[in-house]
Amino acid sequence: MTSEYYQTFFPVDTVYRFLTQHEPLSKREIAFKTDYRYNVAMNKTNFGLILAHGPNEVQVGGVYNKPPFVENKSSVWCVGSELRIDIDDYPECKSCEYKLICARCWAYEMAPRMKKVLAELACYYECQNMQVLYSGGRSAHAWISDESVFYGADDSVRKYFLTQLMSRLKNNNIKLDEAVFTQQAHLTRCPFSINPRGNRVCVAVNLDSAGSPPFVLPKQENELKQSVWLFEQRLPKNGAV
Ligand SMILES: [Zn+2]
Repeated sequence: MTSEYYQTFFPVDTVYRFLTQHEPLSKREIAFKTDYRYNVAMNKTNFGLILAHGPNEVQVGGVYNKPPFVENKSSVWCVGSELRIDIDDYPECKSCEYKLICARCWAYEMAPRMKKVLAELACYYECQNMQVLYSGGRSAHAWISDESVFYGADDSVRKYFLTQLMSRLKNNNIKLDEAVFTQQAHLTRCPFSINPRGNRVCVAVNLDSAGSPPFVLPKQENELKQSVWLFEQRLPKNGAV
Protein backbone atom coordinates (compact mmCIF):
# COMPACT_ATOMS: atom_id res chain seq x y z
CA MET A 1 0.00 0.00 0.00
CA THR A 2 2.72 2.46 0.98
CA SER A 3 4.78 1.74 -2.10
CA GLU A 4 1.66 2.05 -4.26
CA TYR A 5 1.03 5.53 -2.82
CA TYR A 6 4.60 6.69 -3.47
CA GLN A 7 4.58 5.22 -6.97
CA THR A 8 1.17 6.55 -7.95
CA PHE A 9 0.14 9.61 -5.97
CA PHE A 10 3.17 11.16 -4.28
CA PRO A 11 3.93 14.47 -6.08
CA VAL A 12 7.67 13.92 -6.71
CA ASP A 13 8.02 16.94 -9.04
CA THR A 14 6.36 19.31 -6.59
CA VAL A 15 8.27 18.14 -3.52
CA TYR A 16 11.51 18.19 -5.51
CA ARG A 17 10.84 21.82 -6.50
CA PHE A 18 10.13 22.69 -2.88
CA LEU A 19 13.30 21.04 -1.54
CA THR A 20 15.62 22.52 -4.18
CA GLN A 21 14.69 26.20 -3.96
CA HIS A 22 18.20 27.06 -2.75
CA GLU A 23 20.44 24.01 -3.09
CA PRO A 24 20.52 20.77 -5.13
CA LEU A 25 18.74 17.78 -3.64
CA SER A 26 22.03 15.87 -3.35
CA LYS A 27 23.18 18.17 -0.52
CA ARG A 28 20.03 17.60 1.54
CA GLU A 29 19.78 15.08 4.33
CA ILE A 30 16.85 12.71 3.92
CA ALA A 31 16.07 10.03 6.47
CA PHE A 32 13.90 7.10 5.52
CA LYS A 33 13.69 6.03 9.14
CA THR A 34 14.21 8.44 12.03
CA ASP A 35 17.02 6.27 13.44
CA TYR A 36 18.71 5.78 10.07
CA ARG A 37 20.06 9.19 9.18
CA TYR A 38 22.10 10.82 6.43
CA ASN A 39 20.54 9.25 3.38
CA VAL A 40 20.93 11.20 0.16
CA ALA A 41 18.90 11.30 -3.04
CA MET A 42 21.25 12.42 -5.80
CA ASN A 43 18.52 13.84 -8.07
CA LYS A 44 14.78 13.77 -8.73
CA THR A 45 14.87 10.39 -10.50
CA ASN A 46 16.83 8.82 -7.67
CA PHE A 47 14.40 10.33 -5.12
CA GLY A 48 11.45 8.79 -6.97
CA LEU A 49 13.14 5.40 -7.17
CA ILE A 50 13.86 5.31 -3.44
CA LEU A 51 10.30 6.36 -2.62
CA ALA A 52 8.92 3.65 -4.93
CA HIS A 53 10.10 1.08 -2.37
CA GLY A 54 7.55 2.50 0.08
CA PRO A 55 9.65 3.73 3.01
CA ASN A 56 7.98 3.75 6.39
CA GLU A 57 9.16 7.31 7.04
CA VAL A 58 10.38 10.19 4.89
CA GLN A 59 12.01 12.90 6.98
CA VAL A 60 13.91 15.90 5.65
CA GLY A 61 16.88 17.61 7.31
CA GLY A 62 19.13 20.52 6.43
CA VAL A 63 21.41 21.13 3.44
CA TYR A 64 25.14 20.55 3.71
CA ASN A 65 28.34 21.74 2.06
CA LYS A 66 28.39 18.45 0.13
CA PRO A 67 26.27 15.27 0.02
CA PRO A 68 25.96 14.23 3.69
CA PHE A 69 26.57 10.51 3.27
CA VAL A 70 27.33 8.78 6.55
CA GLU A 71 30.90 8.12 5.37
CA ASN A 72 31.42 11.88 4.75
CA LYS A 73 30.32 12.73 8.25
CA SER A 74 33.61 14.17 9.48
CA SER A 75 33.86 16.62 6.56
CA VAL A 76 30.28 17.85 6.16
CA TRP A 77 28.49 20.63 7.93
CA CYS A 78 25.03 22.06 7.69
CA VAL A 79 24.92 25.29 5.66
CA GLY A 80 21.23 26.07 5.83
CA SER A 81 17.67 24.93 6.18
CA GLU A 82 14.15 26.21 6.27
CA LEU A 83 12.99 27.64 9.57
CA ARG A 84 10.50 25.06 10.73
CA ILE A 85 7.67 25.34 13.18
CA ASP A 86 6.09 22.33 14.82
CA ILE A 87 3.14 22.87 17.15
CA ASP A 88 1.89 19.76 18.89
CA ASP A 89 1.06 21.20 22.27
CA TYR A 90 -2.66 21.70 22.76
CA PRO A 91 -5.24 20.41 25.24
CA GLU A 92 -6.25 17.06 23.70
CA CYS A 93 -9.88 16.01 24.00
CA LYS A 94 -11.32 12.50 24.26
CA SER A 95 -11.73 12.30 20.47
CA CYS A 96 -8.00 12.82 19.89
CA GLU A 97 -7.41 9.09 20.04
CA TYR A 98 -4.20 7.26 19.26
CA LYS A 99 -2.28 10.55 19.18
CA LEU A 100 -4.20 11.82 16.16
CA ILE A 101 -5.76 15.25 16.41
CA CYS A 102 -9.54 15.35 15.92
CA ALA A 103 -11.41 17.70 13.59
CA ARG A 104 -12.66 19.93 16.40
CA CYS A 105 -9.26 20.36 18.04
CA TRP A 106 -7.72 21.07 14.64
CA ALA A 107 -10.24 23.83 13.91
CA TYR A 108 -10.43 25.44 17.35
CA GLU A 109 -7.06 24.71 18.96
CA MET A 110 -4.38 24.02 16.37
CA ALA A 111 -5.22 26.19 13.36
CA PRO A 112 -5.64 29.40 15.43
CA ARG A 113 -2.31 28.75 17.21
CA MET A 114 -0.42 28.29 13.96
CA LYS A 115 -2.14 31.34 12.45
CA LYS A 116 -0.94 33.54 15.30
CA VAL A 117 2.64 32.30 15.02
CA LEU A 118 2.76 32.81 11.24
CA ALA A 119 1.21 36.26 11.51
CA GLU A 120 3.99 37.27 13.92
CA LEU A 121 6.70 35.85 11.65
CA ALA A 122 5.26 37.56 8.57
CA CYS A 123 4.95 40.85 10.40
CA TYR A 124 8.18 40.87 12.40
CA TYR A 125 10.62 39.09 10.08
CA GLU A 126 8.84 39.85 6.79
CA CYS A 127 8.78 36.16 5.89
CA GLN A 128 6.83 35.46 2.71
CA ASN A 129 7.82 32.01 1.48
CA MET A 130 5.77 29.84 3.83
CA GLN A 131 4.18 26.40 3.63
CA VAL A 132 1.73 25.19 6.24
CA LEU A 133 0.97 21.51 6.65
CA TYR A 134 -0.88 19.09 8.85
CA SER A 135 1.65 16.47 9.94
CA GLY A 136 -0.77 13.57 9.61
CA GLY A 137 -0.54 12.98 13.36
CA ARG A 138 -1.20 15.51 16.08
CA SER A 139 0.76 18.56 14.91
CA ALA A 140 0.81 21.46 12.51
CA HIS A 141 4.03 22.23 10.64
CA ALA A 142 5.22 25.36 8.87
CA TRP A 143 8.29 25.73 6.68
CA ILE A 144 9.75 29.19 6.10
CA SER A 145 11.98 29.10 3.03
CA ASP A 146 12.92 32.78 2.56
CA GLU A 147 16.59 32.99 1.59
CA SER A 148 17.45 35.34 4.48
CA VAL A 149 16.25 32.75 6.99
CA PHE A 150 17.50 29.70 5.08
CA TYR A 151 21.12 30.85 5.06
CA GLY A 152 21.16 33.62 7.62
CA ALA A 153 20.07 31.79 10.72
CA ASP A 154 22.37 29.30 12.40
CA ASP A 155 21.28 27.56 15.62
CA SER A 156 22.20 30.51 17.85
CA VAL A 157 20.28 32.98 15.67
CA ARG A 158 17.29 30.62 15.67
CA LYS A 159 17.41 30.47 19.47
CA TYR A 160 17.32 34.27 19.53
CA PHE A 161 14.38 34.31 17.07
CA LEU A 162 12.50 31.87 19.29
CA THR A 163 13.04 33.98 22.40
CA GLN A 164 11.78 37.05 20.55
CA LEU A 165 8.82 35.19 19.09
CA MET A 166 7.77 33.68 22.41
CA SER A 167 7.91 37.04 24.15
CA ARG A 168 5.62 38.46 21.46
CA LEU A 169 3.24 35.50 21.84
CA LYS A 170 3.34 35.23 25.61
CA ASN A 171 -0.31 36.12 26.14
CA ASN A 172 -1.42 33.28 23.84
CA ASN A 173 0.53 30.54 25.67
CA ILE A 174 1.53 28.85 22.55
CA LYS A 175 4.33 26.31 22.78
CA LEU A 176 6.51 25.37 19.80
CA ASP A 177 8.81 22.37 19.54
CA GLU A 178 12.06 24.10 20.47
CA ALA A 179 14.45 21.60 18.86
CA VAL A 180 12.67 21.76 15.50
CA PHE A 181 12.74 25.56 15.53
CA THR A 182 16.31 26.09 16.71
CA GLN A 183 18.30 23.24 15.10
CA GLN A 184 19.16 23.74 11.43
CA ALA A 185 19.85 20.02 10.98
CA HIS A 186 16.68 18.78 12.68
CA LEU A 187 14.51 16.31 10.79
CA THR A 188 10.92 17.17 9.81
CA ARG A 189 8.33 15.01 8.11
CA CYS A 190 8.46 15.45 4.33
CA PRO A 191 5.40 17.13 2.79
CA PHE A 192 3.02 14.56 1.25
CA SER A 193 4.71 11.60 2.94
CA ILE A 194 2.59 9.18 4.96
CA ASN A 195 2.60 9.50 8.73
CA PRO A 196 2.73 5.84 9.84
CA ARG A 197 1.09 6.64 13.18
CA GLY A 198 -2.37 6.88 11.63
CA ASN A 199 -1.73 6.37 7.91
CA ARG A 200 -2.76 9.96 7.19
CA VAL A 201 -0.81 11.96 4.61
CA CYS A 202 1.15 15.06 5.65
CA VAL A 203 -0.77 17.59 3.54
CA ALA A 204 -0.69 21.31 2.80
CA VAL A 205 -3.50 23.18 4.52
CA ASN A 206 -5.28 26.48 4.24
CA LEU A 207 -5.61 27.87 7.75
CA ASP A 208 -8.36 30.22 6.62
CA SER A 209 -10.66 27.29 5.88
CA ALA A 210 -9.77 25.32 8.99
CA GLY A 211 -13.38 24.20 9.42
CA SER A 212 -12.84 21.21 7.14
CA PRO A 213 -10.35 18.81 8.77
CA PRO A 214 -7.25 18.15 6.64
CA PHE A 215 -7.28 14.41 7.24
CA VAL A 216 -6.30 12.73 4.00
CA LEU A 217 -5.66 9.03 3.51
CA PRO A 218 -3.27 7.75 0.82
CA LYS A 219 -6.10 6.69 -1.53
CA GLN A 220 -8.07 9.96 -1.38
CA GLU A 221 -6.93 11.16 -4.77
CA ASN A 222 -9.14 14.26 -5.06
CA GLU A 223 -8.22 15.59 -1.62
CA LEU A 224 -4.56 14.96 -2.36
CA LYS A 225 -4.76 16.79 -5.68
CA GLN A 226 -6.38 19.80 -4.02
CA SER A 227 -3.66 19.90 -1.38
CA VAL A 228 -0.87 19.60 -3.97
CA TRP A 229 -2.47 22.46 -5.91
CA LEU A 230 -2.50 24.63 -2.77
CA PHE A 231 1.14 23.76 -2.04
CA GLU A 232 2.15 24.65 -5.61
CA GLN A 233 0.34 28.00 -5.42
CA ARG A 234 2.62 28.93 -2.52
CA LEU A 235 5.85 27.91 -4.26
CA PRO A 236 7.82 30.79 -5.78
CA LYS A 237 7.57 30.87 -9.57
CA ASN A 238 11.32 30.79 -10.21
CA GLY A 239 12.61 27.27 -10.79
CA ALA A 240 14.73 24.93 -8.75
CA VAL A 241 18.53 25.20 -8.69
ZN1 LIG B 1 -9.73 16.56 20.02
